[in-house]
Amino acid sequence: MPPNKIKLVILDRDGVINQDSKDFIRSPAQWQPIPGSLEAIAQLNQAGYRVVVATNQSGVGRGYYSEADLAAIHQKMHKALQSFNGVIDRVFYCPHHPEDHCECRKPRIGLFKQIAQTYPVDLTTVPMIGDSLRDLQATQAAGCRPILVLTGQGQQTLQDNPQLVNQVPIFEDLKAAVCVLLFDG
Ligand SMILES: [Mg+2]
Ligand SMILES: [Zn+2]
Repeated sequence: MPPNKIKLVILDRDGVINQDSKDFIRSPAQWQPIPGSLEAIAQLNQAGYRVVVATNQSGVGRGYYSEADLAAIHQKMHKALQSFNGVIDRVFYCPHHPEDHCECRKPRIGLFKQIAQTYPVDLTTVPMIGDSLRDLQATQAAGCRPILVLTGQGQQTLQDNPQLVNQVPIFEDLKAAVCVLLFDG
């Protein structure tokens, strides 16, 4: 690893860190961590990884919740992580409606570009852990390393795209993915 590069992991939020909802996560009360996910993030930190989130939050563009609500949700997430000595460096999110056709909504790569502009990092070494096909597609397009977890939409993603078995590493949940990541590097 060149000395000026940092170790970074990108995580999707809904269905990876916290329980997903078809009805969107609209308030801090609705944000509930997936068991083991916060501990896994803390483990990454302890191993020298910075952790950032890349998340589609079209609920803002749809008018289901405001950016202030989203900030409150993320404050709950950061606080919950603190009790495990874990830190998410930054949350990169797309607030746009799908019909806005923005550059940042996954499967497009705008969020990854923002991350690359913020951190001195070689994207080809960066794992991105997600539960949806669009996470994997964006990750691939950005040149990062896609990893699928079966929490959230993950089971459905795999059922709809069985070829993924031969294309990406697949894990039960974030905790299992991080275990292997830390073991294999
Ligand atoms: Mg997700
Ligand atoms: Zn966007």
